[in-house]
Amino acid sequence: MNDIDDAGETARRLDRTHVFHSWSAQGDLAPMVVDHGRGTEVWDAGGRRYLDFSSQLVNLNVGHQHPRVVAAIQAQAGELATIAPAHAVRVRGEAARRISERAPEGFHKVFFTNGGADANENAIRMARLHTGRDKVLSAYRSYHGNTGAAVVATGDWRRVPNEYARGHVHFFGPYLYRSDFWATTPEQETERALHHLQRVIEAEGPGSIAAVLLETVVGTGGVLVPPPGYLAGVRALTERYGITLVLDEVMAGFGRTGSWFALEHHDVRPDLITFAKGVNSGYVPVGGVLLSDEIAATFEDRVFPGGLTYSGHPLAMASIVATLDAMAEEGIVENAARIGAQVLGPGLAALAEKHLVVGEVRGVGVFWALELVADRTTREPLAAPAVGALTTDLTRRGLLPFVAENRVHVVPPCVVTDAEVHEALEVYDAALTQIEKELH
Ligand code: PLP
Repeated sequence: MNDIDDAGETARRLDRTHVFHSWSAQGDLAPMVVDHGRGTEVWDAGGRRYLDFSSQLVNLNVGHQHPRVVAAIQAQAGELATIAPAHAVRVRGEAARRISERAPEGFHKVFFTNGGADANENAIRMARLHTGRDKVLSAYRSYHGNTGAAVVATGDWRRVPNEYARGHVHFFGPYLYRSDFWATTPEQETERALHHLQRVIEAEGPGSIAAVLLETVVGTGGVLVPPPGYLAGVRALTERYGITLVLDEVMAGFGRTGSWFALEHHDVRPDLITFAKGVNSGYVPVGGVLLSDEIAATFEDRVFPGGLTYSGHPLAMASIVATLDAMAEEGIVENAARIGAQVLGPGLAALAEKHLVVGEVRGVGVFWALELVADRTTREPLAAPAVGALTTDLTRRGLLPFVAENRVHVVPPCVVTDAEVHEALEVYDAALTQIEKELH
């Protein structure tokens, strides 16, 4: 821990006394006191610089303090700081238009929410009303947010059963490294995962299923890029049975995979797309649902029973307009694609060659995971204490990591430079060398 100044000490004391933190036991917390950030860099209250290879919660696609986005929020605050969703305001229309222009053909309407969870919540409600059916199928390895229906659609340890659990059914998606289908090739994994999903649909009764809800690329659950043909196969199944396909692009969307939407890599057109995070890099909380024209038509002469006080908040809208314009004009999505293919991907593959503790490297764009193992042959996951030691060491060496279970997710902002990637690769290399020394 660095020495921190008086302002930093005050921040720490206030946090410990008054702030109730998420997903944590409150007693053993010692959060870093952050002073400021710029681009891929963050400084703590002691003046120490870090490379932010977490993008916070994988939301900071344009990096910290992008000047155009900050200026747009300031300008909007001076003009119209808040307005109810029922009014028409130009900035909201401009934001919605820019989002729909990035979507596949036939997506013209956007329903704005406060974040990703309530985007999924509302998408589920739309699918249920559109189909007149009840059940929602989602993957075991998934995270869809922490509100009533979104958290029961979630498939990991956070799936806290609650009163919304009715109608939620889970299935296994593809994950070749730890295949649930005894597959050894991507083709087998696709074929068997689709067969499994078809059996689940048949067993549940296709006429009772409103939606299949899927992350286009599973994010927190392991950066699982679907094998070729899987999403197209899911689309074919959902079409056959009249089921709404909802793709959750909350983490994968807006540049993270090196394209505007991750679905572009898979040639698939869903019925609903949910988004948040990268759409404005989280400068103001916002999320939303993109509706296909078919689903939007359901609500032409029928009320959609959903709405939020801050839906389409002008500060969020201004930040979306500025973010998407900056991303387009500054080639930020292209940068993510190039860095992934030419610098970060090959660099991580070289680390896997060198370090036995890395079982698999996978990813695309600026969305990667190193899956850590105690034994490469058995693929036994690296134990929590070792992962914890590695996390501490990475931070000590000046890198903010994103760690989930036995994985280090390598998820810098889309604006990351070649030099920053090379610097980070050296840090990962040194920390992996250290943990291997400690293990043997
Ligand atoms: N969906 C996905 C794929 C996510 O990764 C997350 C958050 O990490 C969410 C939904 C929930 O978003 P929020 O935390 O903004 O509610």
